Amino acid sequence: MNTIQIEDKAFEILLENDNICKRTRLIGIQLNVDYENRCPIFIGVLNGSFLFMADLLKEITVSCEVGFIKVSSYEGAESSGKIKQAFGLPTDLFERDIIIVEDIVDTGFTLDYIIAEIKKQEPASVKVCSLLLKPKALKAPIEELEYVGFEIANEFVVGYGLDYNGLGRNLKDIYRAKTVS
Ligand code: 5GP
Repeated sequence: MNTIQIEDKAFEILLENDNICKRTRLIGIQLNVDYENRCPIFIGVLNGSFLFMADLLKEITVSCEVGFIKVSSYEGAESSGKIKQAFGLPTDLFERDIIIVEDIVDTGFTLDYIIAEIKKQEPASVKVCSLLLKPKALKAPIEELEYVGFEIANEFVVGYGLDYNGLGRNLKDIYRAKTVS
């Protein structure tokens, strides 16, 4: 299916699942090299990262721990930049190597907030692995953003964990909103 409809919006295919899996495999290989003998903690940012997190972790062969946090900050098709709160952050991150796993980095506000919260616990290192990045939407460079699956244009995407009004997270491919022409 190359075009889908979710509520009032039409979407067209952007990234097929095969392509996502291949890229995820490569990121996994890189992480296995970079974190050899370090036992990192992967922290997935819910809800959007759940599929990427699952597929990525299946590629990880180094000993590691896994957790999830939830941040409420986003509604509809535009990032508000208003961060509310992070829930479920592990409390034992002191001197640990942390890898935050995100679905998408847009303005970067969510990530800035999460990184600041994690750094309060004085971890040994903090890096970010995001499946998608919208470079043109990013408000300021994020030096911790080390692993990026795909850079995409400044457009709204859905599928593979990402939603539109709560729908579409289950789609195995990633779609972008069609512009009205
Ligand atoms: P930021 O704080 O970087 O602007 O936004 C990050 C969060 O906004 C992501 O974790 C995601 O939940 C949401 N987001 C940003 N862009 C998109 C998009 O194109 N589609 C969807 N579904 N969510 C997005």
